[in-house]
Amino acid sequence: MDRVTCLRCGQSYARAGIAERINAENPGLTEPALVRMAPDGDADVAEYESFVVPACTVCGGTLKPDVVFFGEFIPTEKFAEASSMVASSDAMVIAGSSLVVNSGIRLLEQARRRKLPIVIVNRGVTKGDGRATVKIDSGTTETLRAFAERLLP
Ligand SMILES: [Zn+2]
Repeated sequence: MDRVTCLRCGQSYARAGIAERINAENPGLTEPALVRMAPDGDADVAEYESFVVPACTVCGGTLKPDVVFFGEFIPTEKFAEASSMVASSDAMVIAGSSLVVNSGIRLLEQARRRKLPIVIVNRGVTKGDGRATVKIDSGTTETLRAFAERLLP
C-alpha cells in the first residue's frame, strides 16, 4: 500500500508523494465537510465533480495502489514472489483474509507441505481455519501490533 502504479506504463510512485499531490491539487480536502474517512481507509468525497485526480506524470495514465484488489488476477510474478517467500520462511502468518481466494489457499497449502507453523488472524471464519496451527479470531491491527511488540527488539 506504500506504492502507486500507473496502469498504462507501469511507472511506480511513493504513495506519500501522490497523497501530497492530491492535497495540493484539492485545497480544503481535509475539511470534514468535504471528506468523510471510512475505517477501512476509503474516503467519501462530497464534491467529486471538482476533485482533481492525479495522473501519471510520465504518460498521463490512471494511477492505482500497488495491491491486488479483491476480484483482480494476481500477476504471475507477484504470486511467484509470494511462493518464493513461503519456500524460505520459518512460519506463515495470514492476516485479514477469509482465504476465499484460491491463491491464498495455494500458499497456505505450500506452507503445510513444508510443515510450517501457520497462524491465521481474522475476525470470523476462514477457509483455512481447519488447516492452521493457531487461529486467532481478532482484528489484525491490534493482533499484529501485539506480535510486533513481543517479537521485535
Ligand atoms: Zn504512466
